[in-house]
Amino acid sequence: MRSTTVSQSPSSVAQAEPLLEVQSVTRSFGGVRALTGASLAVPRGRICGLIGPNGSGKTTLFNIITGYERADAGRVRLDGKEVTGLAPERIFAMGVGRTFQITRIFARLSVLDNMLIATQRRERWWRSMLRGAGSAEEVERAMELLRFVGLAGHARALAGELSYGQRKLLELAYVLVADPELLMLDEPAGGVNPTLIGQLAERIRELNEQGKTFLIVEHNMELVMSLCDQVSVMSFGSVVVTGPPEEVRADPRVLEAYLGLDDEEDDLVESGGGTSGGR
Ligand code: ADP
Ligand code: MG
Repeated sequence: MRSTTVSQSPSSVAQAEPLLEVQSVTRSFGGVRALTGASLAVPRGRICGLIGPNGSGKTTLFNIITGYERADAGRVRLDGKEVTGLAPERIFAMGVGRTFQITRIFARLSVLDNMLIATQRRERWWRSMLRGAGSAEEVERAMELLRFVGLAGHARALAGELSYGQRKLLELAYVLVADPELLMLDEPAGGVNPTLIGQLAERIRELNEQGKTFLIVEHNMELVMSLCDQVSVMSFGSVVVTGPPEEVRADPRVLEAYLGLDDEEDDLVESGGGTSGGR
C-alpha cells in the first residue's frame, strides 16, 4: 500500500535522486580487501536491503558510510552532499541513524536511561547521567519511543536483562530519538525470535510510511524479500546485483555469490517459519 503513490519501475528507481550514494568505495585491512569498489544508491523513501555472504563487506560498507571507518578510495554522498571521511557524530547529525550487528547498549543501565543517553548524545554521556535523568519532556519522548517498540513495560528494567530481540528493539528506539531520515540496520533480525521479528518488520513499515528511508543488512531472506523495495547483493567486496526482490531472487549471480560457502550462516534462509511478520 505504501508504494501506491510511487512508481515501482526499475528505471524510475535508477533515475530518482538518491538519498544515499556510494561510489566505488575500496578498503583493505592489511592484505584483506574488504571492499573492492562498492557502489550503491539508496532512493529516498525506500526500504533497501543489502545481502551477501559473511565476509562480503556489508558491515565495512556500513562503517564507511557512517564514518566509523575510512575508505581508501571512493566517495559517499548524502542528499547530494559529500560526507566521505566525516566523523560519525557529523554523519549522525546529518540524519543517519545506525544500529550495530552486535548491540551497543549499556547493560547495567535501565532501558529508560539508555534512551536518555541517546537523547543527550551530543553531550558527554557521563555528564548527562550526572545531571540527572533528563527533563520531563525528554522522558516523555523516550517513553513514547519505548511504547512504539513495545518496551515501555521494561523501562525500569536493566537493559542487560532484556532478551536478545528486545535489545535489538531498544537499539531501534535508541536511534529513533534523533529522528534520522535514513536508518541503517545491521542484521536487525539476527538471533531474534519470530514474534519479535514480526514486530520489528511492522515497526519498519510504519516508519517507512512516515517517510523514513532504510538500508538493511539482513540474512533472513523471507524478511528481506517481504520488506524491501530494492535489494543489493554483495560478493567479495562489491555490489554485484541491485533490483526488485523478485528479480534478485531469480538472478543466477546471487546464487553464485552464495555458492561454495559451507558456513551454515551463509545459506539463504528460505523458510524462516513465519519470520516475515508480514500481512
Ligand atoms: P560482512 O559484514 O559482509 O560479513 P565485513 O565487512 O564484516 O563483512 O568483513 C569483510 C572482510 O573484511 C572480512 O574478510 C573481514 O574479516 C574483514 N575485516 C572487516 N573489518 C576488519 C578489521 N577491522 N580488521 C581486519 N579485517 C577486517
Ligand atoms: Mg557484518
